[in-house]
Amino acid sequence: MRAVVTGGAGFLGSHLCDKLLERGWDVLCLDNLITGAEMNVAHLSGNKKFQYLRRDVTQPLSIDGTVDAMLHFASPASPVDYLKFPIETMMVGSAGTHNALDLALAKKARFFLASTSECYGDPEVSPQSESYWGRVNPIGPRGVYDEAKRFSEAMTMAYLRYHDVDTRIVRIFNTYGPRMRLNDGRALPNFVYQALTGQSITVYGDGKQTRSFCYVSDLIEGIYRLLESSEHEPTNVGNPQEITILEFAERIRALIGAEVEIVFEPLPQDDPKQRRPDISKARRLLNWEPKVSLEDGLRDTLAYFRTQVDKEAARKA
Ligand code: UDP
Repeated sequence: MRAVVTGGAGFLGSHLCDKLLERGWDVLCLDNLITGAEMNVAHLSGNKKFQYLRRDVTQPLSIDGTVDAMLHFASPASPVDYLKFPIETMMVGSAGTHNALDLALAKKARFFLASTSECYGDPEVSPQSESYWGRVNPIGPRGVYDEAKRFSEAMTMAYLRYHDVDTRIVRIFNTYGPRMRLNDGRALPNFVYQALTGQSITVYGDGKQTRSFCYVSDLIEGIYRLLESSEHEPTNVGNPQEITILEFAERIRALIGAEVEIVFEPLPQDDPKQRRPDISKARRLLNWEPKVSLEDGLRDTLAYFRTQVDKEAARKA
């Protein structure tokens, strides 16, 4: 069995490559490295079942050989990244998804779309279940990501209905773990970096907005189970344990034992006030739920970030 993973050198894509290889798949990883990093797949370079090609999936794709699964994970995913690369974000979600679907059609491969809780926008209901249509501002700064992913979902359903491609859609909620980029601008890397380097922790708004953080190994297990299932409609995968951003900052500061201040900065436009997945569908369908506690997950993530901060300090010295 051979899988193609677009965005395979990204945070989630690289963990997915690891999982597929562990389950006996051959893996072709495609990435243009705008937000991914070769370092994330460097440990796989000697593996005969693994291949990496630097490719931009917004350009037409041609791949030699058979493909059994096409997993589309390419996209900037941190708000800071997609504000920096708004056109690339829209193109990878539109042209990139179209190309990936065409490849799945041509190769008679299963297609798997990495979608997002951002499809729910700034939700009025909590927790968010798959039946909620969302509240997205199409022309706000986050619209480039949210609408590209909503387009991706619509296009995926069109290929299922019109071309009979065997598709899956996962809606991924906030996820953390090793291989997140230190400077990707998201809450966790920012807070950890700030606490480790003795800088004030920046909480946006009053910090009362909530998120629910899932450890990467739990998320990838849920994704793998969804790939193996026969479910075509979107399925939430994430951790339902909800926490305010202020509490999250305090937890990280305490875990690191840093004596730094928490400072409040303006809340970015359209920042969702609450986010928590309803995972009853994943529980029922995939017999899946997260296992790693925030405490254990944060401990492993901190160990990774400590090494990254040390490397950065050595480079600067
Ligand atoms: N956030 C924050 N300080 C930071 C970075 C993010 O308070 O330095 C907040 C952000 O405004 C949001 C939450 O943390 O309310 C989660 O942001 P993140 O960028 O991690 O992901 P999002 O869930 O918004 O996509």
